[in-house]
Amino acid sequence: MIRKCDVAIVGAGIGGLTLAVSLLQQSISVQIFEQDTKFREIGAGVAIGGNATRLLQILGVDLAQVANMPPALEVRRWKDGRLLWSHPIGEWYRQEVGAAFLTLHRGTLQRLLAAAVPPECIQLNHRLVGLYDEPAGVRLHFEEGDDVVASVAAGVDGVHSAARRYVCGDVTPTHSGEIGFRGLIPVAKSQDLPDPAALHIWCGPGTHVVHYGLDRGELVNLLAVYKPDRLPEWTRFSDRVPATRDEALSIFEAYSWDRRILDLVRNIEGDMSFWALVELPRLPRWSRGRVVLLGDAAHAPLPHQGQGAGLAIEDSYALGALLVKGGLTDYSSAFQAFENLRRRRSWMVQAYSRASGRAIKFGGGAAARRDASWSSLPRRIGWIHRYREEEIVSLPSRSDTNCP
Ligand SMILES: Cc1cc2nc3c(=O)[nH]c(=O)nc-3n(C[C@H](O)[C@H](O)[C@H](O)COP(=O)(O)OP(=O)(O)OC[C@H]3O[C@@H](n4cnc5c(N)ncnc54)[C@H](O)[C@@H]3O)c2cc1C
Repeated sequence: MIRKCDVAIVGAGIGGLTLAVSLLQQSISVQIFEQDTKFREIGAGVAIGGNATRLLQILGVDLAQVANMPPALEVRRWKDGRLLWSHPIGEWYRQEVGAAFLTLHRGTLQRLLAAAVPPECIQLNHRLVGLYDEPAGVRLHFEEGDDVVASVAAGVDGVHSAARRYVCGDVTPTHSGEIGFRGLIPVAKSQDLPDPAALHIWCGPGTHVVHYGLDRGELVNLLAVYKPDRLPEWTRFSDRVPATRDEALSIFEAYSWDRRILDLVRNIEGDMSFWALVELPRLPRWSRGRVVLLGDAAHAPLPHQGQGAGLAIEDSYALGALLVKGGLTDYSSAFQAFENLRRRRSWMVQAYSRASGRAIKFGGGAAARRDASWSSLPRRIGWIHRYREEEIVSLPSRSDTNCP
C-alpha cells in the first residue's frame, strides 16, 4: 500500500521536529519519519544561543522552563584552572541579544519539541532508504513499512543523511582530526568546580574541555576534546563509540589535565562515548525536485561554536515560513529562496567553528596571543547570536495544528 502526505519530514531530531511545529501551526499537514524506535538520550548537552531560543519562543516552545541559563563564560588554563578571562552571560546576554542563552540535554530538547507535535504525525521505526521522483510526488521508501508519496520531502536526517544521496550523490563528511569525549556528571559530584552552572572553556595545547550546567543546573555536561597524531581505527566505520572512564582518564592524564577535570571524568554517570568530530563540506545544491535538505544534512558544523542545533532551528523556521508564503505547489521557489537565505550564514558559522576549534587548542606563542584577545570575543562572534531571522522571513500568526 502507498500512503500520501503533504510534507514528509525525514528525521525527528532537532531540525525535523522544529520544522513540523512551524508547519503544523500554519495548518500544513506533515508526517515525520524517524529511523529510531523511540526517542533516545543521544548526544549529551547542547547550548542554544539567542538566535535560536528566540525562534523557538515564537513557535511557542519555551526552553526556559527546563533549561539552565549559564550565568557566565569562564576561560581557564588546562593545567591548573587559572582564570584567563570571564564575561557575564545570563541576564546580560538576554538584555543584549534579546533572547536567552540556554543549555540543556539534547534529549530534553527533543522531548519538548516532540510534545508540540501530535503523536499521530510521528512515525518511528521508519528508516528512509530511497527517494524516487514520480508524477504524483516524491516517493519515500523505508527499510520497513509502506512507501509514502509526498508533495514535498525535507531531509533533516543528520550529518549522514540518506536524503542527501538523492539530492547530490555521495558526500563524505570531513574529519577534523579531533575526538570528543562526552558524559554527564551529577552536580553534587562537581562541587569543587568554580561554578558548575556556568559555561567553562579550558584551553590546553592539542586539547580543550568545555563544561556547563544542564537542565536547571542539576547536571554538568562535559566535552573533552583531543587531537591524536592518528585517528583511531573505529573512526573509519563510525562517528561514535562507547568509552570507558579508564580509557578517557589515560588520554587526558597524558595531557596533564587539572585534577578537577580528571575528577569530572571519574564521576561521570550513565553513558559516555568518544565522538569523531566531523563537518560537512559545502554542497553544490540543497534541493533537487521536491526534496530539500536542512540542518546537519545540509551543513553540519564542528561543535566549537555550539551552533549546530541552532542552525537547524533557524533553517526549519525559515523553510516553514517560505513554504507557507508560496504554498506547497510553488515548492521550487521556496527551496531556492531558502538556500539563498541560509547558505552564506551556515557556511560562515562552519568556518568560525573550525577556526575556534583550532584556536582553543593552541600552545606556545599562539596561545599567548589568543589569551590576550579574549576580551574582543563578544564583538567577534556577536553576529552569530544577534541574528534575527524572524525579521527577514516571518511566519504568519499561529493557527490550529493539522495532521492527517
Ligand atoms: C560533540 C558535539 C557537541 C555538540 N554541541 C552542540 C551545542 O552545544 N549546541 C548546538 O547547537 N549543537 C551542538 N551539536 C550539534 C547538534 O547536535 C546538531 O547540529 C543538531 O542535532 C542537528 O540537528 P538535525 O535535526 O539536523 O540533526 P539531528 O538532531 O542529528 O537529527 C537527525 C535525525 O534523523 C534521524 N535519521 C537519520 N537517518 C535517518 C534515516 N535514514 N531515516 C529516518 N531517520 C533518520 C536520526 O535518528 C535523528 O533523529 C553538537 C554536536 C556534537 C557532535
